[in-house]
Amino acid sequence: MSEKRLCPHCGQPLEAWIGPPESGWGELLVCNNNACVYYTGSLNDIRYKDEDNHLGCRYAENPDNGYAPFALLAWLPEV
Ligand SMILES: [Zn+2]
Repeated sequence: MSEKRLCPHCGQPLEAWIGPPESGWGELLVCNNNACVYYTGSLNDIRYKDEDNHLGCRYAENPDNGYAPFALLAWLPEV
């Protein structure tokens, strides 16, 4: 993989991330920017639905699927 992909929401370079073996994913590209509007926006949405689970969605792309964008659920260590 040589091409640098940028997050369309914050412009930060996406970082390679290997999905859990049971997920069936290979290498994914994930926006790890905690200030990304995609991420911060998802926090508000999800916290509204379930206050006990501090989950957020990070912007991610799947290179094995033509770089199709999707929301990667991410646990938050602290909010
Ligand atoms: Zn981003």
